[in-house]
Amino acid sequence: MVDQQTGTRKVTLRALHIPEAVTVGALAERMHVEPVAVIKQLMRAGIFANINQVVDFETAAVTARTFGFAARRPEESKSNGAAVAEAPQAAAEDLAKLKERPPVVTILGHVDHGKTTLLDAIRKANVAAKEAGGITQHIGAYQVDYKGHPITFLDTPGHEAFTAMRARGAQVTDAAILVVAANDGVMPQTIEAINHIKAAKVPIVVAINKMDTVDADPDRVRRQLSEHDLVVETWGGDVIDVECSAKTGKGLDDVLESILVVSEVAELRANPDRPASGVVVEARLDKSRGPAATVLIQNGTLHLGDHVVVGTVRGKVKALTSDSGRRLRSAGPSTPVELLGLSELPQAGDKLNAAADERSAREMQAEHQRAAEARRARGLTLEEFGSRKSAGQVKELNLVIKTDVQGSIDAIRHAVEQLGTEQTQVRILHAATGSVTESDVLLAAASQAIIVGFNAKPEPGARRIAEQDGVDIREYGIIYRLVEDMQAAIAGMLEPVVKDVVEGKAEVRQVFELKKGRTVAGSYVLDGQLSRGALGRVLRGGKQVHDGPIAGLRRFKDDVREVKAGYECGITLEGFDAFQVGDIIEAHRQQKGS
Ligand code: GDP
Repeated sequence: MVDQQTGTRKVTLRALHIPEAVTVGALAERMHVEPVAVIKQLMRAGIFANINQVVDFETAAVTARTFGFAARRPEESKSNGAAVAEAPQAAAEDLAKLKERPPVVTILGHVDHGKTTLLDAIRKANVAAKEAGGITQHIGAYQVDYKGHPITFLDTPGHEAFTAMRARGAQVTDAAILVVAANDGVMPQTIEAINHIKAAKVPIVVAINKMDTVDADPDRVRRQLSEHDLVVETWGGDVIDVECSAKTGKGLDDVLESILVVSEVAELRANPDRPASGVVVEARLDKSRGPAATVLIQNGTLHLGDHVVVGTVRGKVKALTSDSGRRLRSAGPSTPVELLGLSELPQAGDKLNAAADERSAREMQAEHQRAAEARRARGLTLEEFGSRKSAGQVKELNLVIKTDVQGSIDAIRHAVEQLGTEQTQVRILHAATGSVTESDVLLAAASQAIIVGFNAKPEPGARRIAEQDGVDIREYGIIYRLVEDMQAAIAGMLEPVVKDVVEGKAEVRQVFELKKGRTVAGSYVLDGQLSRGALGRVLRGGKQVHDGPIAGLRRFKDDVREVKAGYECGITLEGFDAFQVGDIIEAHRQQKGS
């Protein structure tokens, strides 16, 4: 934009009414520009303000001018005040307690492109003054202070760790730095990293590293990135790119500034004034101190002495240590902290919650246990997608595609992308040649995607995790079969094949009355076996009179899981008490098959 006073070009500035004080966000809204553009403009003027920060009229006026507006004070306005209405007031009281919190950043990229070097260089260059000279601890995450703005880095670079946490239901990262070596360019793991970040919907800053090398070619990197739908700002896109060298330290400040820009747009806020919640980043067993967990506090504040539940483990906070080895009394939002006081070792990705007292900690523990159960099968099969689609619960079919040759990727991409309808988008999260890897399965689990292996088999480890997490790996050798299945799923017509398997039969020999009208069928197992969790079909004279879950199985006074042929037992069925001597109870299960 042109400044009128420079006189280089005559421009007409549009009038803009601005109050004496205005937030950056509201100013951007009035000018109909992106908040990030305003933040950047302020940065150029040496003012570091986030989207919620208030700037005065003078500052706002200077900024507005660069966007082609002439600022007017409220009293200069002839309007009835509508144009100067302030930003909407925070509605709920809780909103008023929200405070800005530091961003949490992960570094991803191809091996040897400089992730670790960059992490170390950033840490060394930005230790908070009061902590300089302290003993750095590698606890899995650290916080730096960049010109008064704290930034938290996760210390385990790489997309596997990043997606493994997501697969466990923990979204911890606010922004990702994608490191690409300028002398090497975009590599397979760069592409994987891009796709993992995109699937997580996390903003990216591209760090074009190793700019000190003689064969550095940053434009090649930009071109290669654009081929993977990542167009950087230098090329007119919306992803910030920064040239740097982790070795010489050049450009590192720009990397950090960019992180602040993207995180300010994201309006990262938390309420420090409530019991803490967070997530385990790393955990290790220390010989002398017992289980030590690095926890990233996501909301609230954790205090010494707090009762906590971490994963399914309960404990009381005995010690809190910062990444620089300082003993802390408390830790607020976005702070990584090492915690002592747990009786068992938690796992990375486990959730932490502080409780007011031991009783609520117990209740919370039960809640965590239920959540852990529910998470056990996070994946989605194509059949499940089909039925959820019919129920209107999903709108996107996410796919991870692995093939034997590059040519097949293009053919499959073309074929499946055409299957998208107005109601259902087909999103290819990642497509590459090679076998189906653990990283593919984690990505699918974290994003509820289906894996398509086209002449590509899963690696043994990948198959194991897929079974554990309920991820569907579908193998095909002919494109039209693949297309047919996807099409049926999208149309909500892919019926799961359900087989009814009879597991055993018992005959009712005596009926016992219990309290409250309930009855037990004293029975003899004729063949197979009866087990809890199966369904019990009651047949009388060859006709079915009831079908429902087996609620209880007893041998003498003991509850048992199963009873085999040739034994007597007491059977109770859910919702059925009208047993008659001579009834046959058939135990059966619905099994999904193909
Ligand atoms: P990672 O596998 O991505 O963590 O990569 P590393 O940080 O281990 O770096 C791999 C190699 O590249 C090491 O030998 C580093 O010293 C070197 N390296 C990292 N950053 C730079 C850089 O900016 N310039 C140069 N010349 N070398 C670098």
